[in-house]
Amino acid sequence: ATPISMTVAMAQGARVGILFRNADAIERMRDVDTVVVDKTGTLTLGRPALTDFIAEGFAHDEALALVASVEQPSEHPIGLAIVEGAKARGLTPRPAEAFDAINGLGVQADIDGKRVLAGSRNFLAQHSVDTQGWEVRAETWRMESKTVVFFAINGIAAGIAAVADPIKESTPEAIAGLRNLGVHIVMLTGDSRRTADAVARQLGIDEVLAEVLPEDKASHVKRLQAEGHTVAMAGDGINDAPALAQAEVGIAMGTGTDVAMESAGITLVKGDLRGIERAIVLSRATMRNIR
Ligand code: ADP
Ligand code: MG
Repeated sequence: ATPISMTVAMAQGARVGILFRNADAIERMRDVDTVVVDKTGTLTLGRPALTDFIAEGFAHDEALALVASVEQPSEHPIGLAIVEGAKARGLTPRPAEAFDAINGLGVQADIDGKRVLAGSRNFLAQHSVDTQGWEVRAETWRMESKTVVFFAINGIAAGIAAVADPIKESTPEAIAGLRNLGVHIVMLTGDSRRTADAVARQLGIDEVLAEVLPEDKASHVKRLQAEGHTVAMAGDGINDAPALAQAEVGIAMGTGTDVAMESAGITLVKGDLRGIERAIVLSRATMRNIR
C-alpha cells in the first residue's frame, strides 16, 4: 500500500502543477543528480516565429511562398512559423506533391514542378546541396539564439530563413534553482551547436549536446546513466518519448504531446520547469519522513 506521506506528497505536488504518476516517481526523484532538458518547447515556448528570410535567384516573396508550401504539410513548429510568416505577408501556400518529412532534419516536396528542400545544413548536405555561401549570415543568426533553416530549389541553395523561439519566462529561475541544488544540467537538442550554445549561455547551462537526431536522444541519457548519474529527462515532443522512458524519471510538459506525457513519471501542468526543483525538494522531504 502507498504510505500516507506519498499520498500527501502527490496532493502537494498536484496543487502546484506537478503531477506524479505514482509513488515510484516521487521516490526516484530524490536521487536525481543530473537533469537533461530538451530545448525547443521545454526551455523555450515552442512557438517560434519567422524573423528573417533572404533569397537569391528568386524574388523574396516567390521564394517564401515556395518554402511555405513545402512546410505547409509539416507538423513541426518551424514549419508552422514559416507558413504563418508567409501568410502574414499575404502569401498563400501552394499544394505540395511527394511531400516527405525527415525527423530532426527537414522537409521536401515538389511545388509547381520545382523540387524544394527546407531544413538543417546537414539535411541539405545529405542532398549534396552546398550551403557554404550562406554560412556567415547563418552564423550571425545562430549567435542571436535563432534557428536557421536553409532551403534549396531544384538542387541549388536559394537562401535562408531564421525563426526565433522565446525562452519561457519561468526558465531562468528554474535553471538557477536547479544549479543551487547542485544538480548538473545538460541541454539536449536537434538544433545547431551555435544556436544551442547561445541559449545555454543566456541560461547558465554548462553542458550542451547539439545536433542530436531524435533516435539518439535516449542513448545520450543511457550514456550519462552508465557514467553513474541518476537522470531526470524533461521534454515535450514525440521525439523525446524514448529518452523520457530511459531516464530514471521522465518529466513531460503538460503543454506538449500526449506521447511524451504517457512516457513520463511526472507531468508539469503548465510546462513550468520550476516544478523540477520543487519535485526534488518534495521528494527529499517525503523520503526522509518515510525512512
Ligand atoms: P529539437 O530537438 O530542438 O526539438 P528537432 O529534432 O525537431 O529539434 O529538429 C532539429 C532540426 O532539424 C531543426 O533545428 C531544423 O534545423 C531541422 N528541421 C526539422 N524539421 C524541420 C522543418 N519542418 N523545417 C525546417 N527544418 C526542420
Ligand atoms: Mg521539444
